[in-house]
Amino acid sequence: MKADRTIAIDVCNAVKRYGDFTALKTISLSIYDNEFFTLLGPSGCGKTTLLRMIAGFEDVTEGEIFLYGDEIETLPPHQRPVNTVFQNYALFPHMTILDNVGFGLEMRGKSKSEARQRAGEMLELVQLSQFAARKPSQLSGGQQQRVALARALAPQPKVLLLDEPLSALDLKLRKAMQLELKHLQRETGITFIFVTHDQEEALTMSDRIAVMSAGELQQLGAPTDIYERPRNMFVADFIGETNLLEVSVDQITDGRAICHLGGGHELTCNAVEGVGAGSRVHMSIRPERLYMSGEPEKDGSLHGRVKENIFVGTDISTIVALDEGPDFIVRTSNSDRGNKRIFEPGADMFVNMELGAARLLVD
Ligand code: ATP
Repeated sequence: MKADRTIAIDVCNAVKRYGDFTALKTISLSIYDNEFFTLLGPSGCGKTTLLRMIAGFEDVTEGEIFLYGDEIETLPPHQRPVNTVFQNYALFPHMTILDNVGFGLEMRGKSKSEARQRAGEMLELVQLSQFAARKPSQLSGGQQQRVALARALAPQPKVLLLDEPLSALDLKLRKAMQLELKHLQRETGITFIFVTHDQEEALTMSDRIAVMSAGELQQLGAPTDIYERPRNMFVADFIGETNLLEVSVDQITDGRAICHLGGGHELTCNAVEGVGAGSRVHMSIRPERLYMSGEPEKDGSLHGRVKENIFVGTDISTIVALDEGPDFIVRTSNSDRGNKRIFEPGADMFVNMELGAARLLVD
């Protein structure tokens, strides 16, 4: 991501309090123009609150929010160049699909014929032209969601806010809509701010992700950064599956950290900012970055016994009871079965890490 990109939304030290309760604790982040940006976190972490503050439905208790350089606190929602797609679609049941999409345009002062023409173009964009004369109840959930999208895109907002827009759809439709949304974002060039608690959805769709927990920003980065270089325990645990080991950091030299487990077993990995020698921290290792062998391969090999193999279609997950530390999961892709060994339950074996697989966590 280039540093000279235009910033669409700049959230500067924004705090949101409801009475004594602090829903957002001093959040600062910048969202670029033409970016697919996702706010990701568990229920209650403050994602919707931040979205509603950007939309103007909630005021900002402290701090500021800028939209393309302008402070927007005093602008009411309908004067912001921002539109929102809600989870429940909120379509008008008595209006046709075409009128639903055109309604907001007329409210914004367009003539009936202009509104109808633009609504027609928007229905074409979401491939629903043939349903223009129907009522919302005559469409499937996925089609209704696309109408809601067309309606929100019709006034050409600079920023589109999407609050869990796919959560009411079944898995297959959800996956199809994920691709469609990403495609729409690319085609329109509008900045999308997408809220979800589904980490897989966030990884699939986003240019960048802000991971939030308990009103705080935990990490901001591209999907690969967040997945491969989680900063702390929360992010490592929340995004994908991971193995966590408690280690003591003995020494840091030339960007490498020499660590040991409880029983003295030594492991080496990359040093990270915020973890110094002498600290006791956790290490995260993704299951697919591990492999098994009958003999120890190098210093990092961990001895254990296989508890179980779980076949999950594309991979096999092997649960290993280590001599030291918690059980580990080792994931072997089906396509790798020719090169990598799988051991039967009860077998003695060693777990080895690919180079750079272990990640020290701040916390
Ligand atoms: P979800 O995924 O469940 O929608 P979220 O991350 O979007 O969750 P928010 O809706 O932003 O969470 O809520 C953040 C916190 O603020 C929650 O603890 C919620 O109970 C609280 N909260 C939200 N709105 C209000 C309100 N009007 N008054 C008091 N507390 C509120």
